[in-house]
Amino acid sequence: MYKKLILIITLALTLSLPVEAAVTNPHPLYNPSRSLGSYLIEMEPVSFEQSTNDNKTDKILLLEQAISENLGIVTMPSISYIYEVDEPFFGFTDFQNSKIIINSAKASTAPAVVETLAHELRHWYQNEHINDQTEYGQQVRDNYNDYVNALTEDFNSYNSQFVETDARGYAYTVVRLYNELLASNTAVVPNLHKDPVTSQTRLTSNYLRRY
Ligand SMILES: [Zn+2]
Repeated sequence: MYKKLILIITLALTLSLPVEAAVTNPHPLYNPSRSLGSYLIEMEPVSFEQSTNDNKTDKILLLEQAISENLGIVTMPSISYIYEVDEPFFGFTDFQNSKIIINSAKASTAPAVVETLAHELRHWYQNEHINDQTEYGQQVRDNYNDYVNALTEDFNSYNSQFVETDARGYAYTVVRLYNELLASNTAVVPNLHKDPVTSQTRLTSNYLRRY
């Protein structure tokens, strides 16, 4: 399945909403720990691009473990890759088969993979808390009982629903830490100060497909 992890330049779908809008009223777990850092650094864009496909999937798997630990995920989903140029999504979560699917035609760079993985793992985290008798659990439950699908329903309604803003908000904090680490790691990426990665903090239009 890894043969599909081919790097090509694609136009990434981005949201027009300002990034900060995603992090109003954050859940307390919007705090990626610094222990994520060593795994995020492994996703340095240039070295990632130069890695073999096997090395890429290894790095992604390690990052998945680190993000899962950060979120307190109990049972980690597996990761599958597809290559669908004509599909609008970067990734989705298949709860029934316990899988996160990454569309490597869209999530074709290290920053896009980082954001997609953080976003989809947050959906996985939501699902692990769907029966919690907490306000968060209630919000997740209510939303998944009335989930708006991005492909078949109104995009703005999809985009503004709780589980999506929550997933984007968490992913944003991971991407922010990632960008901070890259910006301070001049030995690895000498040109970063001349070419800041702020554009990479834009949110991708991941959506959640439920089966
Ligand atoms: Zn989503």
